[in-house]
Formats: sequence, C-alpha cells, structure tokens
Amino acid sequence: MRLSKSLIPTLKETPAEAQIVSHRLMLRAGMVRQMASGIYAWLPLGQRVLANIARIVREEQDAAGAEEVLMPTIQSADLWRESGRYDAYGKEMLRITDRHERELLYGPTNEEMITAIMRDAVKSYRELPQIPYHIQWKFRDELRPRFGVLRGREFLMKDAYSFDLDRAGAVVSYKKMMLAYMRTFQRLGITAIPMRADTGQIGGDLSHEFHVLAPTGESGVFYDAAFEAGDALAATDIEQFYAQMTGIYAATDEKHDLAAWNNVPPERRREGRGIEVGQIFYFGTKYSQAMDFAVTGPDGRRIHPEMGSYGIGVSRLAGAIIEARHDEAGIIWPDAVAPFRAVILNLRQGDAATDPLCEQLYAALGREALYDDREERAGVKFAEADLLGHPWQIIIGPRGAAQGQVELKRRATGERFELPVAEALVRVRG
Ligand code: ATP
Ligand code: MG
Repeated sequence: MRLSKSLIPTLKETPAEAQIVSHRLMLRAGMVRQMASGIYAWLPLGQRVLANIARIVREEQDAAGAEEVLMPTIQSADLWRESGRYDAYGKEMLRITDRHERELLYGPTNEEMITAIMRDAVKSYRELPQIPYHIQWKFRDELRPRFGVLRGREFLMKDAYSFDLDRAGAVVSYKKMMLAYMRTFQRLGITAIPMRADTGQIGGDLSHEFHVLAPTGESGVFYDAAFEAGDALAATDIEQFYAQMTGIYAATDEKHDLAAWNNVPPERRREGRGIEVGQIFYFGTKYSQAMDFAVTGPDGRRIHPEMGSYGIGVSRLAGAIIEARHDEAGIIWPDAVAPFRAVILNLRQGDAATDPLCEQLYAALGREALYDDREERAGVKFAEADLLGHPWQIIIGPRGAAQGQVELKRRATGERFELPVAEALVRVRG
C-alpha cells in the first residue's frame, strides 16, 4: 500500500479513554476504532493482523487433524434450552426476538450448535473421532468491556470441539489441542503458559487456560520458572509433551494450590499477571447426554460421545501480542503477525534518485510492503514507522540512492545495515 492513499488514521495524542498500552497503541496506530462499547471496527492494519493471527491458528488446527466449518453467529434459543444453558447463561447472552416473536441469540460459544450438527450428521462409532472448528465472531454482553479488544463484547474466537468414543480418546484429543496451542503461540511470537484452571460456564473436570505474561493481565498467575526454559515443544510424542507440560507447576489464582506450590523450590517460584488467550476443556458427555447425541457402537449399543472444547481469542491476541511486544516508540510486531513485513521510507519525496528506487522496491515487495510516499519530514516518517512496528524499515535517502544503496533497520533490535538494493531485498524477504 501507498501510505498517502491508505486508511491508516494514526493519532499523535494519546487517547484519554485507553488505560493500557495495547489499547493506546492500537488506537494511535489506526488499527481499530470503537463503534459502540466493546465493539470495534478493524481498519486495514488491524484487519491484516487479525487475518495473520487467524491464518496461523487455522494452520495449526488443520495440522492437528481438526476440520474447519463455519457456523452462524445467530442461534436459536431452543437449541440452548436443550442443554439447559438458556436460562443459566444470564445477562452476558445477547437475546434477540425476530419479527415472528421467535427467540434468538447472538452466540457466545457453540457447544450446543455443534452438538446438534453432529447429532444430525454422525451415526456410527466408525465416524469418530472428529474435531470440527470455526473462526467466528462471538458476542458476550460483558459487564465491563475494557482494555480495547482484550475485553470486548463482540470478539473473534477460534472454537474447536472434539468428539470421541471414550474418555481415553477424548484425553488424546485434549492433549493434541494443547500441543497445537503451544505451537500456535510460538509461531505468533509470544510465550503462553498453560495453567490449570476452573471450568466455569462450560462445565467439566479438566481444563487449562493459556496465559501471556503481562503486568496488565487480569488474572493472577503462579508458575514454576522451569517453564521459562520452554523445551516441552521439542518432545517427541504427545504423551511425553503432555507429561512435561503438566509436570511443571502453573495455575491461575482461582486454581492455585498452596500444597503443589510448596513443592516448588522457592527460588523457582514466579508470581505475576497473565492475559488469558485460550482455554481448553474436557467435559465428557455433559452436552451429548443433555442433547441426546449418540452413535451406534460396535455391539449395537448407543454411545454418547465424550467431548471437549477449545477456544482461542483471535481478536484478544492482537492486543495481547502488543502487550508482550512493544517499547516506548510503539509496537514491535513479530514477523509472522506484522501487517507489512517492511515499510519503505522515502526521505525526499520528488527526488530524481529516491523516487525510482522506492518504486522499484515497492514493486518487488508487493503486498508485503507499505510505501511511505507522503510529503513529510524524515522525523515524522521515522516516528510513525516505529509506532506501527513493521519488522523492517527500508530507508532511502538521496545520497545512498544515487549509489543504489539503502539503509535497513530492524525494528526489534534497532540494528542498522547499509546495503545494495538486491541484498536488502533478500534480508527483508527472510
Ligand atoms: P475471560 O475469563 O477472560 O472472561 P472466558 O474464560 O470467559 O474469558 P472462554 O469461554 O474460555 O473465555 O473463551 C475462549 C477465549 O476467548 C478466551 O480464552 C479469550 O481469549 C477469548 N475471549 C473470551 N471473552 C472475551 C472477550 N470479552 N473479549 C475478547 N476475547 C475474549
Ligand atoms: Mg476462559
């Protein structure tokens, strides 16, 4: 994109309503705008980030054997009456009445809907296990929407649901999802620790929340510093991975166990705050029983599948990544999430040497580059490039340009390199 023509409404002043850094930076960088309390429009930079996060989440779900579907945002109240959650869910559920006085709701989650779909489609034990998932907007009428997209009312979630014949199978699905989650967060450039957690509204008896450590996190977290080594992903099989993951103490304040904690050597005890970016649940036959979803087993008897559900906050992650990766000057995007890999900074717009060189780079990088072609002072361009957090800045001034040289700056480290154009392109493309 040419910056002069794109919808990136940056702000010079810090918006007064934003209490935490990610919210401030998302507004200042022109990524999002609030349309109503807890409801955001995603502008081009924000939309690219959201799409990149969703792509990585999708790739790791697919790699774990899950299969993508797309369920609607609007659900019927009757579906929720089947599970008994229509009344139980309370005021967080946005309830809607259509012109025929039929009761609908904007889905806060999809256990009921996916169970109904599977009940209709799956009849035999031979068709299991299955893990359908989708990436879809949810609505929860949060009492206190705040911190920008971290606690919105409308938010984008990846939710997966596993259906297995027995508990052993369901626990394998649970472990596979935990591995997929850890790979996802690693690719997103953040460290998220799985913490033993309460099951809340969803129910069940096994659950982990994944927390990104940040001082602004809403949950208190307690963990063994052994997690900082982070080598469980190198485990060779799923059982070994899970044993390693769950063998190290980590719990949210709700589930904190003083007796497990006392076993952690004092010098390894870490207490902090975390942002929940995902949660996984194993809850057995809670929904398959209540909604009478059964398959025919090998001996002809009906079996209620064992279920789990697995959520990732895709839109919350955009904010959480910024909480974890920023400095005084602005955002520091991980390469995989960045809206643009590089920004091209033309330090003298209209110059006979800089203009053609910038055009050449812009043509070569295509969709991956933002070209700052505005008639602005160099200082303004530098500050805005730092604010927006592009992994690479390609700086083109008249002196270098006359010799075919550019300056490359790596946002994360501040390193600078003087290079011929072709070499700079190789670096940026990684
Ligand atoms: P929280 O405890 O933060 O309210 P939750 O436990 O109710 O979240 P889940 O039902 O576990 O949320 O939903 C799965 C994921 O969806 C969460 O881990 C989080 O990343 C995301 N999420 C939940 N509520 C919101 C929200 N209001 N705004 C943005 N993301 C959210
Ligand atoms: Mg949760």
